Amino acid sequence: MFNDQRVKSVLERYYPKSAIRCLEKAEMKFVALQERQKYADARFALRRLAVNVDGWPIPPAGLFVVEERTVYLRSTSAMTVCHEAGHAFGLCPRRRALPKRRGPAD
Ligand SMILES: [Zn+2]
Repeated sequence: MFNDQRVKSVLERYYPKSAIRCLEKAEMKFVALQERQKYADARFALRRLAVNVDGWPIPPAGLFVVEERTVYLRSTSAMTVCHEAGHAFGLCPRRRALPKRRGPAD
């Protein structure tokens, strides 16, 4: 589910285990890009669809690709990880069972 221990640590810090299990059951993946790695290099739908987010003046810190159920992260800051996880929770089958999310400043 994770290719980066920091991402896992952030999620475990800000979300309860039940929320993490929800992401696991929904087969969500979190992929932290390597330094200087571009989104297009991560081989995902944006390249196939020719959506050049790498060419944006300021590329996004994270992206959630619905069809891959994958969060791609240029930043592993708590704010970015939690924001993108929020998108992933949107596809969890038992959304109403999720507790309110705590913010990084909490
Ligand atoms: Zn967003």
